[in-house]
Amino acid sequence: MFPYLKQALSNLFRPAATEAFPAGEPPKAAEGYRGRISYDPTLCVNCGMCMRVCAPQCMTRTIKPLEGGAQEITLTFDQSSCTFCRLCADFCARKAITLTDDYMIVGTQPEDFIVSGTFIKKAPPPKLTPEQLAELKAKAEAAKAAKAAAEAAKAAEDGADPACNADNG
Ligand code: SF4
Ligand code: SF4
Repeated sequence: MFPYLKQALSNLFRPAATEAFPAGEPPKAAEGYRGRISYDPTLCVNCGMCMRVCAPQCMTRTIKPLEGGAQEITLTFDQSSCTFCRLCADFCARKAITLTDDYMIVGTQPEDFIVSGTFIKKAPPPKLTPEQLAELKAKAEAAKAAKAAAEAAKAAEDGADPACNADNG
């Protein structure tokens, strides 16, 4: 009984082994912690790689056409279905996604877990129809054949008998 009493009394004068949270500053996360997603749309090129590697498919992308051929692109992350695997950040060649050390991801509404960003980008050229593709291919083949014929004619001219050329001159 006495050793336990002694231990209990000595513990009264020791600093607390637990964090005094939420009083005071929140403790720092461990190094490499994968917390709240941060997305920088100014770095994004809309390649879509992050969406392809996200197993729970918690990203959505909306593309709104603007006047003058531009597009307004919005990428949205729903952290309520995110597993914080960090694959999206690892595969983003532009480093537009970061998993921060912020673990205070709390909220009462679905939108509290949303991270989103918007940027404007020039729209890609419209896709060609099969007929347009066939027409372009035919033009390219005709140009190639004409070039080959011109080269053959020049080679024949250059390879003509010099004596014959002298006679003709
Ligand atoms: S965030 Fe990165 S991976 Fe995702 S679309 Fe933008 S550039 Fe591509
Ligand atoms: S951390 Fe993982 S689960 Fe979360 S958005 Fe990125 S790829 Fe998807």
